[in-house]
Parts: sequence; C-alpha cells; structure tokens
Amino acid sequence: MLSTMQDVPLTVTRILQHGMTIHGKSQITTWTGEAEPQRRTFAEAGRRATQLANALRDELGIDGDQRVATLMWNNAEHVEAYFAIPSMGAVLHTLNLRLPAEQLVWIVNHAADRVVIVNGSLLPLLAPLLPHLPTIEHIVVSGPGDRSLIADAEAQVHEYEELIAGRPTTYDWPELDERSAAAMCYTSGTTGDPKGVVYSHRSIYLHSMQVNMSESMGLTDKDTTLVVVPQFHVNAWGLPHATFMTGINMLMPDRFLQPAPLAEMIERERPEHAAAVPTIWQGLLAEVTANPRDLSSMQQVTIGGAACPPSLMEAYDKLGVRLFHAWGMTETSPLGTMAHPPAGLTTEEEWPYRLTQGRFPAGVEARLVGPGGEHLPWDGESAGELEVRGTWIAGAYYGGAGGENFRPEDKFSEDGWLKTGDVGVISRDGYLTLTDRAKDVIKSGGEWISSVELENALMAHPEVAEAAVVAVPDEKWGERPLATVVLKEGSTADYETLRTFLGEKIAKWQLPERWAVVPAVPKTSVGKFDKKVIRRQYADGELDVTEL
Ligand code: AMP
Repeated sequence: MLSTMQDVPLTVTRILQHGMTIHGKSQITTWTGEAEPQRRTFAEAGRRATQLANALRDELGIDGDQRVATLMWNNAEHVEAYFAIPSMGAVLHTLNLRLPAEQLVWIVNHAADRVVIVNGSLLPLLAPLLPHLPTIEHIVVSGPGDRSLIADAEAQVHEYEELIAGRPTTYDWPELDERSAAAMCYTSGTTGDPKGVVYSHRSIYLHSMQVNMSESMGLTDKDTTLVVVPQFHVNAWGLPHATFMTGINMLMPDRFLQPAPLAEMIERERPEHAAAVPTIWQGLLAEVTANPRDLSSMQQVTIGGAACPPSLMEAYDKLGVRLFHAWGMTETSPLGTMAHPPAGLTTEEEWPYRLTQGRFPAGVEARLVGPGGEHLPWDGESAGELEVRGTWIAGAYYGGAGGENFRPEDKFSEDGWLKTGDVGVISRDGYLTLTDRAKDVIKSGGEWISSVELENALMAHPEVAEAAVVAVPDEKWGERPLATVVLKEGSTADYETLRTFLGEKIAKWQLPERWAVVPAVPKTSVGKFDKKVIRRQYADGELDVTEL
C-alpha cells in the first residue's frame, strides 16, 4: 500500500525560505575588531543570498551543478554563500584555509571549482595559488584586504558588494532532487590525497533537524550560538543550516579566533551556545585564568572533533560553563554522537556519562567490529573499530570530473557501512567511549595502550598545559608510549613527578618511559593534535627525549 503523504523534497532552498521569513528577525552578528560588530537579520541575509544567486547565474554564468568555492572565515557573507549556491542547484565547496598550499591546489582542481568567493584578508593565501588553478574563472572578493595582490590574475575579479547590489531579491528557485549534491568538503587527509565528501540536500536537511533536537545541541530562537568551528570544517558542524531552521541567532568570530577576542565576544554578546574543538576551549581557559572574563552565559557548549580531557570539562564546570562532548567526522556531516546523560541521575552519577563521546541519535546506526571482522557486543568492555551508517553518513567519496565515486576497502565495509578508524567500546545503554584512533593506539607486547587515556591523565596535572602521547618503536615491546608535554609558565615539574602522578591512575606497565617537553603540540589544519608530525619529529631525532 502506498502512503497518502505528500512527497516534498528536503532541500537547502526550503531551509533558506523558512529562515528568512519565519525567523526573519533573528540576527547574524559578525565580529569586526572595531567598536561595533556587523549585524544582519536572517531576512536581510536571505535577500542578499538571493541577490548572490542572481549574480552567479546572470553575471558569472553558473549553471547546473557547477562548483562555487569559498575561502572565507565565519561571517554573514559566508552564510549567504551557504544558502545561495545550493539553492540555485550549484555545489558549495568550502575550502579549508589552513591546508598546505599544494593540498588546496589539489582539491580545487579535483572539484573543478569555477568561482571562488574569498575574504579580502585571505588574498595573501589565494594569490600565489592562482597560477595553478586553471578551472577558476571568477574571483569574488568580500571585505577588507589588499586587492593589488590579485591584480595580475587571469580570472575575472569582482567585488562581492558591487556584484550583488541592485540584483533582484527574488529567484525562481529550481525544484531540486533532494538526493542531488548541495555541498562538498574534503577530509583533512593525513595520508594520501584528500577525499571529497559530497553532502546532499536531503542529508543536510535531516542532519540540521537532528542538530536542533534537545538530544543534540538543543538550539532555540531564544538564544545565540557562537560558531567558532570553521564553516570550512564540516559545514561548521551543521550550525548555519540548523540556525535557519530554528532561528537561533549566530555570533560569528570572522578572523578573530584568538582567545582574547573570543573572551571579549562572549562577555559582550553573551551567547548561550557555542561549538569548537578542545584546543580552542583550552586556549580560552588559559586566557580567562590570566585575565578573568564572565563566560557564564554559555550553558550549552558543544566540544568535539577530538577527545575532551576530563580536566577541561571540570575547569569549565567551575566557571559555570557546561561542556557537552560530541563525536563526528567529515564523513558523518558530522553529528555522530552527543553526550547527554540519561534522565534521573545525580550530578555525580552524570559525570562518567558526560565524559563519554555520547549516544547515537535515531538517524545513526552503529556497530563495533573486532580484528577478525566479528561483531562485538555492547558490554562496555569489548573494544573494536566503530562502523556507522545512516541518512547523513557518506557512502562513497567523490571521483572528480568524469570519474566514478569510489569506496576504498579501508573506509567502507562490503555491506556499505562507514569504517570510522576510531576504536572504542559501547556500553549496554548505548554510550560510546573512544579509546583511540586505530592508527594511534600503542601496541605494547601484544597489549593495547590508549594514548588518549594517558593524555587525559597527564592533562589533569595542574602544571601541564597540553600533552600528546604517541607510539614509538621499541626493541623489546614492539611499541611504547612517548609522552610530549607542554608545561604551564613557571612550572617546575620534572619527569619523575609527572610519571608518579600518572601512576596514581594508570597501570604501571602502561606508564611512558620516554618523555619530552615541547613548546607546543603540533596541530592539524582543523586544530587537532597532529600525531603524525610528532612521530616524524621523534624519528628524525628532533625531540629532546629523556628516558626514565
Ligand atoms: P574530521 O573528519 O577531520 O572532523 O576528523 C574526524 C575524526 O576526529 C574522528 O574520526 C575521530 O578520530 C576524531 N574525533 C572527533 N570527535 C571526537 C571526540 N569527541 N573524541 C575523540 N575523537 C574525536
């Protein structure tokens, strides 16, 4: 029997139309570094997005599913591009401005981007790449910056404001197939070439609904969200789309991502919600410890992208700021899990649940797979690789112009589940605890040591600012942990002290014997610990290692 329900495609266009009408008064506030931030309503941003779509079609000739790239910070204009491009049927390609030049060139060419919309402040980054980007025909520049840097560009240069000025504020939006491509994002690619994940209108729509649910980020039009996670990192975790659905105001830091301006933004604008990776929250904590600021408006902070050290969550609890731990990947849109403790628990009973990566929402199915391919029970003890599937989970990578989309064996199971490369356990009541990346786990004498567990224990020491632990080759055990530690200013802690401190929580055989103090932990383009670099530094003898 067929249902009697209407079949309305789930599209980004519908999210845009909803946001700019029903939530027309909600605001996007963009930090400018000046006395007053820029403020723009959803209605205004929606009208400007419509004008941008008109300009892209009529002036720049964008047609069908051609790719329009953005090289931008988090700001109102970037939100306009987020809605204009997919709504007209084209594909938004967000470029990660922290990628090395050769990777940026590779992904622009692979995606065959025709246009790039760029913030003026990022022209020094774009200009030297242009001779290597033959598919780019138009450059649209937004905001302050030195235009002379691209004076010799072969591509045609446009000013964003001039381009959209006077254009119609209506558009005959096409009725799109909800399964068609809306946006794409390349994985940060620690090994091999970056891989393109292509989100559909349907996946974005369903993911946005989940982001808004109280089970996940619980956004409402009464609040403001501080979107620190970059719009080039998995669509800012879905926030720009989700906000247009529920009308929560957006606070955008633009290029002011350093701890001091972030602290000022929070104190002045008082957002209830925020989202960022742990390194951002670590930096902010150090800042407000030195220069106190009122952060207490933040009742719902989403922290993810890397494991949240318990000491960090504890420190923010003391400031009256509540962190919620979430797990996800570029391939999962990214919302995979979020750690809301079950109902009816005391604060003390909630604590261990808050430290897990969280529970899976209804749209995400999960299973754990052991080394022999066997499926493991959810008993809180059996550790295996996490595999997931669902409506907003990637089923393949983009094959490039004329190429077929592809499904590498190490990334997809035969029956189509995404192999996450993350190792962990799932409790009987469905909470995921990750112990490591499969490639970061330390295999010592046939036993596994969790690098994350050692890092969390080390970062709980009051004199440790950051700590990263990696596996290094060992003649006797195969691999052993190397602890690299960033000490807080004025610290006098020595290795013996740190090792003794670790020994209070960690089994003796797991304690590292190799130690190095470093000025900073190397970070990836999206602010996570870059363990590949640490392993290379060790192999090349660049670290001053002490053996205990
Ligand atoms: P990316 O695609 O760059 O966002 O990276 C995804 C990877 O980040 C995941 O596969 C995990 O290894 C890691 N990750 C994300 N969130 C968490 C978390 N809450 N705890 C531990 N690792 C995480």
